[in-house]
Amino acid sequence: MPANGLHLLPMASSHRGGLSEACVQCSEGKKMVLFVTGLCRFRCFYCPVSSRRNQIDATYANERLVTCDADVLDEARSIGAAGTGITGGDPLGMIDRTEHYVRLLKEEFGPSHHIHLYTHEPNAEKLQRLARAGLDEFRLHIPHYLWGPLAADGGAYRSVLTEAPSWGIRRGVEIPVLPEKEAELVRLLQALDEIGVDFVNLNELEFSETNEEKLHDRGYELDPSNGWGVRGSRAVAQRVVKESRLSIPVHYCSSRFKDSVQLRMRLHRRAERTRPPFAETTSDGTLVFGVVPAPPGRDVARWAERIARRYRLGPKSYRVDFGRRRLELGAERLRRLAPTLGAPAFAVEEYPTADALEVEREPLNREAFAGFTAGGT
Ligand code: SF4
Repeated sequence: MPANGLHLLPMASSHRGGLSEACVQCSEGKKMVLFVTGLCRFRCFYCPVSSRRNQIDATYANERLVTCDADVLDEARSIGAAGTGITGGDPLGMIDRTEHYVRLLKEEFGPSHHIHLYTHEPNAEKLQRLARAGLDEFRLHIPHYLWGPLAADGGAYRSVLTEAPSWGIRRGVEIPVLPEKEAELVRLLQALDEIGVDFVNLNELEFSETNEEKLHDRGYELDPSNGWGVRGSRAVAQRVVKESRLSIPVHYCSSRFKDSVQLRMRLHRRAERTRPPFAETTSDGTLVFGVVPAPPGRDVARWAERIARRYRLGPKSYRVDFGRRRLELGAERLRRLAPTLGAPAFAVEEYPTADALEVEREPLNREAFAGFTAGGT
């Protein structure tokens, strides 16, 4: 409940003043994440981009590798996206590609499809280009060594943030909270208040597989009571939001909010739209169903047809995944069939995402494993 202008959100997140429309859509799982490129010239020591994507020039729509425009549009439809967040790497480093996607999404889904973008580059010319293409909002990532009054070297950031309203676009600042820089952060917020930016988003600094070593080298520690959060980051952010007497909206987004709320909601939306009728959705938004891998060397279609006939499987009660060479059906049904199947069977839990990441695999008939050969069922 709002208390003295302070709004508390789940997972220790909070805000003072209104939330950006992009943040609202994100918390409801309605934003597609369009990762335009892994390339970025800034190389922040805390960069969380995964090693699979970091400094690699590939585009992903959520977890889907993009090979053509249809991949982007299909992924947006698969979560019923109301908007898109463009990220990277630095999307301004690939300005032609970024502008192309802004235009593509607006043409396909109309002007109400809300698009926001993250960048480290205070480049007025590129941002104006994107504003003309239909970009609704940008969030500047101001480097920590420029936090403070945004004078001298911070001047380029100040001028972009000052000029942006005349380009017809909303502008905010989004930065991770480095716990030892509280004084500089408070001074920066005062400068942003003077400019009158539309909002400031503070993210919890967190460990990831890619930044772990660098964060440890700089003396940061894990907060043992707080997932992957860096000790002190949450406390500083919460204090700043609680005590700030600014006229601009300030929002603190915790790392657990991103995982437990934003991601979970997006998984549920994708599961609702894409899951096969025989799969069950868990409270985390993952899918549970049964799988029977095809024996090596067998024609998958004919093998699956034989099983379907033998066990009288109706057309909606199973499907064949030709890419992964396997038959899929309801987990409970397979549990009942498994003892007579003569081939290994599993109940699996997977993300309902394009990469279908497997979380867990439970064998249903261990006795079938020993005797299973290429000549099985
Ligand atoms: S600007 Fe973003 S993508 Fe680039 S290095 Fe910094 S955190 Fe990573």
